[in-house]
Amino acid sequence: MTNTLSDEGGQESFRDSLGIVEKSGKRKWVYPKEPKGRFTHARNLFSGILLLILFGMPFINVNGHPYMLFDIINRKFILFGVAFGPQDFYLLGLTMITSIVFIFLFTAVFGRLFCGWVCPQTVFMESVFRKIDYWVEGDNKNQRRLNESSWTGEKVFRKGAKYLIYFVVSFLTANMLLAWIIGVTSLEKIITAPVEEHFAGFTAMILFTVLFYFIFIWFREQACILVCPYGRLQGVLLDTNSIVIAYDYLRGEPRQKKKRDEVRTAGDCIDCKECVTVCPTGIDIRNGTQLECVNCTACIDACDYVMKKINKPRGLIRYDSANGIKTSTRKIFTTRVIGYSVVQAVLLSILTYFLVTRSEMDVTILRTPGMFYQEQQDDMVSNLYDMKVVNKTFQNKELEVKLLNREGEVKILGEKRSVPAQEATLTKMFVLLEKESITMMNTPLEFGVYVDGKEIHRITTSFLGPVEKKEHKDKHKDNKEDDHREKKEGHE
Ligand code: SF4
Ligand code: SF4
Repeated sequence: MTNTLSDEGGQESFRDSLGIVEKSGKRKWVYPKEPKGRFTHARNLFSGILLLILFGMPFINVNGHPYMLFDIINRKFILFGVAFGPQDFYLLGLTMITSIVFIFLFTAVFGRLFCGWVCPQTVFMESVFRKIDYWVEGDNKNQRRLNESSWTGEKVFRKGAKYLIYFVVSFLTANMLLAWIIGVTSLEKIITAPVEEHFAGFTAMILFTVLFYFIFIWFREQACILVCPYGRLQGVLLDTNSIVIAYDYLRGEPRQKKKRDEVRTAGDCIDCKECVTVCPTGIDIRNGTQLECVNCTACIDACDYVMKKINKPRGLIRYDSANGIKTSTRKIFTTRVIGYSVVQAVLLSILTYFLVTRSEMDVTILRTPGMFYQEQQDDMVSNLYDMKVVNKTFQNKELEVKLLNREGEVKILGEKRSVPAQEATLTKMFVLLEKESITMMNTPLEFGVYVDGKEIHRITTSFLGPVEKKEHKDKHKDNKEDDHREKKEGHE
């Protein structure tokens, strides 16, 4: 990763340790000061909107079905009101590849913007749980004091209140996640019905609650620094033109404490360490872009406030690229970005094509394996077929199958003409052709599949017929005619 200071011959020693680990190897608990400023305000607003979507979306129903559903257990998905099933997994695969390329492209241009503004871990940690800390335990100094003090009545009360609120919020978050997976109706049943009736669902609810509680009460920023694969990939995804949260070392260095009434010859950084105090991952952004930085913007606000106080322009820490700071030139369309964009455009076109041409009913008709033709009464010959129908819609569908390219009869066995909503059916059907009309071993057949009188599919397959016997019969008939002719000629 680019180190702005090291470009100028700065120290790299900060890379030998993590901001959240003591020299002894013990975890260093981070007590970030509450940030205030325009970016924090904008992020709070944006987080509020995201949380509203996260908690509100599962309640949105369209025609009695969720607008969004990710039922990975039953492999049923609803995206913007459209149902997708296991047969659409090629779309899922394609979407995943497109998303990965999009992440590469987005990160190459905007760095970890996603981490700071959209990632649920940051949104919950910084905009929900951290706020609970400030509300219940006070500012960062109070939190440290409380943690380091012995157990007093105040500590029991504040810690107890905090743990309880954390647990309730974790429980609500777990319910929200389940609502996205199984829908609010099923979730309501888990909550209201006896536990033994929904033991799996109830267990999932408890497990998710415990998981969220553990992550936010104890694991916290370690999720981004130690676990998140996206964070660890930054070293290869970013380049010197990527926009990151960066310290302008050209303007800030040499850093020096501000003295009263001095004629300042040093850089604009007064080494107040406010940017370090607010950082939730415990790093000093002045060292350059680091793995730990989640682009939360807290240090921008802290430094802007300091700059305002010392009558300097804001933006000593800002969104900029390493090249932008070094040369004041910003280049977005680098060769890498153009390359990613081309791949992205191709993938998006393919995905759009598949989505637009995707049918709501999948029908396949194949001759039943291992079956030959059957000779029937009235000089008819039949073949048995398997018809598999997948109904991806939310309505039951009545099917009709017609032979399009020749005279014949289609007999669907049983009562399987109706395909229930969101289900797949396997139906047997006979096709009967007149023996006389069969002229070859494999007769091509074309079926039209109709729903509500509208043709939805055309399927071609073949029909096995008794052509050898017929050929034999024809030959026999020809031989007889030849004999007869020869005899006749002999008489003459
Ligand atoms: S907040 Fe700004 S002025 Fe203070 S140490 Fe950080 S970069 Fe320097
Ligand atoms: S360095 Fe700044 S943007 Fe990065 S995590 Fe720390 S406070 Fe947030």
